[in-house]
Amino acid sequence: MAIRLRGFSRTAERALGKSLSLIRQRLRHRPAPMPHDLRIALDEIVGGKRPMVTLAFGGGTEACHDLAGRTAGYRVVLCPRAFAAGKGKRIRLTAVLFHELIHVARGKELDAEAFENAWFPDEGAREPTRADWAAFAEDAYRGWWVHLDPRSRRVTDYSDRFIITFPRPTADRLVW
Ligand SMILES: [Zn+2]
Repeated sequence: MAIRLRGFSRTAERALGKSLSLIRQRLRHRPAPMPHDLRIALDEIVGGKRPMVTLAFGGGTEACHDLAGRTAGYRVVLCPRAFAAGKGKRIRLTAVLFHELIHVARGKELDAEAFENAWFPDEGAREPTRADWAAFAEDAYRGWWVHLDPRSRRVTDYSDRFIITFPRPTADRLVW
């Protein structure tokens, strides 16, 4: 396995394997535009060419209190919520994992939210919350690869290609 897994159950490992192959597949047959260097970075991460990325199970840790996942450097912590069914009974795992891998590629919150929602709307993507919008504002509505017009809520990349239009922000808390 190209990516190191730590602390997951067998069932969770199988689910992760499926999510990773879906992500690899989608990087080959892209549903929407993505800047070239981001795609290369993600390819290298899921292909194991990068310094080893570790996915670790967060279990009942404090960090998992109201998060599905979080990333520091090459280490991604996935929480029980990532494996639970969300809105419409969809398992969120693929969308959560893709989001966190964009952070591994050094993407900011806006990059991660934009591509999560544009690429995995049917695999558990979650629309940005008010907390996410606060993070976007803090970054002046700019990510590494995309920017956001806060009035139209339209996200485009730096070649002006359309990525997604976000809906109006939802509640402060996570929405499931
Ligand atoms: Zn994030």
